[in-house]
Amino acid sequence: MLLLRNVTYSTNGRKILDKINMRFKEGMSYSILGPNGAGKSTIAYILMGVIKPSDGKVLLDDRDITDLSITERAKLGITLLWQEPARYDGITVEEYLTLGGKLNVDKEELKEILEIVGLPYELYHSRFVDKSLSGGERKRVELASVLLLKPKYAILDEPDSGLDITASGLIDKTLEYLRKIGTTVILITHHEDIAKKTEFSYFVCGGKVVRKGFSDEVVEYYKRACGKCPLLEGMRY
Ligand code: ADP
Ligand code: MG
Ligand code: MG
Repeated sequence: MLLLRNVTYSTNGRKILDKINMRFKEGMSYSILGPNGAGKSTIAYILMGVIKPSDGKVLLDDRDITDLSITERAKLGITLLWQEPARYDGITVEEYLTLGGKLNVDKEELKEILEIVGLPYELYHSRFVDKSLSGGERKRVELASVLLLKPKYAILDEPDSGLDITASGLIDKTLEYLRKIGTTVILITHHEDIAKKTEFSYFVCGGKVVRKGFSDEVVEYYKRACGKCPLLEGMRY
């Protein structure tokens, strides 16, 4: 189980996360739902170790991992799909996904995963992971790299952003694959349709968890908030 306990994060004199508590159990799927600026990516960075909380802890199976680096957490099976994927000049899709051959992936598996993310092997394996790929294609390559790693915990920061209408099917296939291999999914989104695809949701805004529970229920609440933060807007529910 991956856990955030009373996590607060402040930067430049601003409190961005305020006493966040979250629990991600093995093999389950979760979404973190919230409007722009809610603090979702900041939560992803705290889970991955990109930044350290100002207060509170990150725990993995009762072990305090708050001070572990990104690399150390990656070794423990935690992976992050970045909201904005990077580009690498001179590296092909196949080289990138197999870490230049260092990652032991068989061709059939690579093909299966590229199929899931909607990039047929024959068309894409020798393309370069540079600006010749569109943002959406680049995002799909990044998603493929997360699937190939077979992580214990996959944090997906807005996997649907920058993608077209086929993204919904892509998310379905991705979740189905991750469920099959037993990965815990932490899916960040501001789309209710995407959040509904996971079992449980946290609705975050203004750096706080305002609602948690079964996704259907949390999404209903989120809809009533019309994508706004009930804390900031002073709304009542
Ligand atoms: P989300 O991913 O939900 O859109 P973020 O986690 O990226 O939101 O950001 C939450 C809030 O914190 C935003 O208002 C953002 O502008 C602010 N923020 C993030 N990083 C910094 C920073 N380094 N300095 C100041 N404000 C920041
Ligand atoms: Mg955002
Ligand atoms: Mg974000």
